[in-house]
Amino acid sequence: MVVRELDNHTFRLAVAQFDQAAERMNLDPNLRERLKLPERSLLVNVPVRMDDGAVKMFAGYRVQHDSSRGPSKGGIRYHPDANLGEVAALAMWMTWKCALAGLPYGGAKGGVQVNPKQLSRAELQRLTRRYAAAIFPLIGPDKDVPAPDVGTDPQVMAWMMDTYSMQVGYAVPGVVTGKPLSIGGSLGREEATGRGVVDVTLEAMRHLKLDIQTATVAVQGFGNVGANTARIMAETGARVVAVSDVSGGLYNAKGLAIPELLAWYRANGQTFSSCTMGDRITNEELLALDCTVLVPAALSEQITEANAAKISCRILAEGANGPTTLEADRILTDKGVFIIPDILANSGGVIVSYFEWVQDMQRFFWNSLDIRDRLHEIITAAFHRTLQFSRQRGVTMRMAALMSGIDKVAQAHLSRGLYP
Ligand code: NAD
Repeated sequence: MVVRELDNHTFRLAVAQFDQAAERMNLDPNLRERLKLPERSLLVNVPVRMDDGAVKMFAGYRVQHDSSRGPSKGGIRYHPDANLGEVAALAMWMTWKCALAGLPYGGAKGGVQVNPKQLSRAELQRLTRRYAAAIFPLIGPDKDVPAPDVGTDPQVMAWMMDTYSMQVGYAVPGVVTGKPLSIGGSLGREEATGRGVVDVTLEAMRHLKLDIQTATVAVQGFGNVGANTARIMAETGARVVAVSDVSGGLYNAKGLAIPELLAWYRANGQTFSSCTMGDRITNEELLALDCTVLVPAALSEQITEANAAKISCRILAEGANGPTTLEADRILTDKGVFIIPDILANSGGVIVSYFEWVQDMQRFFWNSLDIRDRLHEIITAAFHRTLQFSRQRGVTMRMAALMSGIDKVAQAHLSRGLYP
């Protein structure tokens, strides 16, 4: 049963995945009911004075799915389609992701129903500050720690940190992660999710005895996750043959010049719409390319029953959260695609967010080599634990990752007991 307020397709996907794993684990039925639903869900209506003087209302959300293992953690999404069900699904995935990586966090997520590209910088700042003030009772370095997600960036995190700090009267860098370095951000956070995607993909390639030098890679989405994944993949020697954003994609069988493409993208309003540095392709065509590694790094439910049969990669490394529907997952598994599930593949972001929070709390900062090495250590260990679990129990990598994460959360609940 899904409560009506949360009922949307993304939440149904997260619950269906959870149900499959819970069934396989023989999870205590009482815990099963409890873990299906978020602990707290806040809906806020945010008034913002626009540059023309008018006041516009924006719906905002913050959902904490579980805090049994520590403060909850999860990004803030600015997107016109953001809604309570989607935010709740993303919060649930954060819970399993943090547990799988062994981080002392629960899962949360936030969102505002807005297209940030249609706001001026001043409007974006006012919206962010008012949203941060509205969710202020829920967040804090020991309670719930937001981070960037789709449509938000280090500047948005800086405004959130400042708003929170002004409310309490002193600087609290640990209230959000993904901040600029000048206010307690961490080296390596910006590229962390992409670096993690590459780390686990390389482990998967070793496992499958595939050579990186002859590998071809296609990346959907060219934001924080997609652009960093493409850049680091190219640096490791892979041939990145296709990239895309919401406006469509670019293809070159010999490999795209990623550093030049990145520079062009930044200089031209962050859209490929007028780019001629490769053959134009659609997002659908990109997903169907014959390649070694496909990285969906945009939004959820991009690979569905309708296009899964056309997917022609050896490894699917899920940079995005929830990019593959349940039916598509079955089709890909039957085709023998090696799937590195989202809660494992994109966990580099929250792992380095954790490093940032630890550094902020200790007022002691690490160098970039420390960050890279520790990220590599944690994410590759999680990959190998998941692979071993999947082989021992005869389940897919996705089921193995979900079952491992859910089991850690279940153990925490059983140890703590039910209050009162
Ligand atoms: P972003 O806003 O920086 O970039 C999103 C990219 O996706 C943009 O290039 C945009 O043009 C593209 N896009 C949007 N709609 C699209 C569509 N319909 N088809 C193709 N491309 C489309 O966001 P991000 O932070 O890179 O996040 C991308 C995904 O990765 C999301 O699912 C997010 O939840 C997940 N994720 C992000 C992080 C992080 O640290 N930022 C961590 C883990 C997971």
